[in-house]
Amino acid sequence: MSTEAPKPIRETTHPPLLLNPNKRIRLLKTATHHSHPEPALTISQTKHHPTVPPIPGSSEPSEQEGAVYFIGNATTVISYGSLRFLTDPNFLHAGDHVHLGPGVTSQRLKDPAVPDLGSLPPVDSVLLSHYHEDHFDREVEANLSRDVPIITTPHAKTCLTERKREDGFRKVVGLAEFEGVVVRPVDDAGQQQQNKTSGRKEAVRVTGMPGKHVPPGPLALANELLGAVPPTNGWLVELGWTKGTDGAEDFETGYRIYISGDTLFVDELKEIPKRLQGDRIDLMLTHLGGTTIPGPRMPLLMVTMDAKQGVQLMRLVDPDVTVPIHFDDYDVMLSSLNDFKKEVAAAGLEDRVVYLDRGEEYRFAVKK
Ligand SMILES: [Zn+2]
Repeated sequence: MSTEAPKPIRETTHPPLLLNPNKRIRLLKTATHHSHPEPALTISQTKHHPTVPPIPGSSEPSEQEGAVYFIGNATTVISYGSLRFLTDPNFLHAGDHVHLGPGVTSQRLKDPAVPDLGSLPPVDSVLLSHYHEDHFDREVEANLSRDVPIITTPHAKTCLTERKREDGFRKVVGLAEFEGVVVRPVDDAGQQQQNKTSGRKEAVRVTGMPGKHVPPGPLALANELLGAVPPTNGWLVELGWTKGTDGAEDFETGYRIYISGDTLFVDELKEIPKRLQGDRIDLMLTHLGGTTIPGPRMPLLMVTMDAKQGVQLMRLVDPDVTVPIHFDDYDVMLSSLNDFKKEVAAAGLEDRVVYLDRGEEYRFAVKK
């Protein structure tokens, strides 16, 4: 066996994405002005680390705190300092259907915690794991402002920008596996906002992680021909700081979030802990559900992790805390959250998981 040195977690870095949280783009393309007051997230409960006590006295997230708010399916809002990201926006309601590929439709079973895009507070950027209707629904596609920045896969970038339509999205960053981009908040003069006490500036670095919706082999080949299931990314989302010099090399990580995306537990994922070379994942958002197509009456092909694979991924990545998402919103999801709870209990990992219901948030401290 050769002992090859592990490859770096980022092979390439995209030019930085500069965002001004004071001048957020309106989410709805038809909106002519920001609504006052801005809509706020209705948080039914705030949850904290299962074993570490929360920062005393904080009711609003501070500069050193971040939060993940669960809307439903894979839709979350990740907040850190002045930055806010929306993941995999889907605001369809119970009874609505999505088209997931040739001959594959699925019914939504649960309502999202936020009824539509227009009820969201403004966000700085959308993080889209892949171009699939349960992650980017047709109403979002029709109504989202073309100027909202979207970070996604190269495949989804092509779909969103280059296909034959007049109003493609204009600010899309396509990240390949192990390609990163640093997101820096800037002020109205285009300068990076500075933290008055530390001299450092908050920033977020997003890196594409591998994900495979379809197992390798003949099915993968068939899928490529059919174009049924699009390529998908996971994400490494690092909340941290820069000293304001150009280039990504001065980025310091304060909190590391890994989002699995819609993937099976495939060998490609083993690269992630190898490349992290001992850097710990603080929080993992796992897309579970054991999504099986074409549907519950003909369960042929599982395309997302079920409960067992979710626990396998916990063992592989060894995150401090895991929050399961994407587990029961659609009728193609055959592996329930209860199945996952049982697997977690059997593995003795109960104090490493936080369960969020739609409308709840998980708040955490970001290391300075
Ligand atoms: Zn999905």
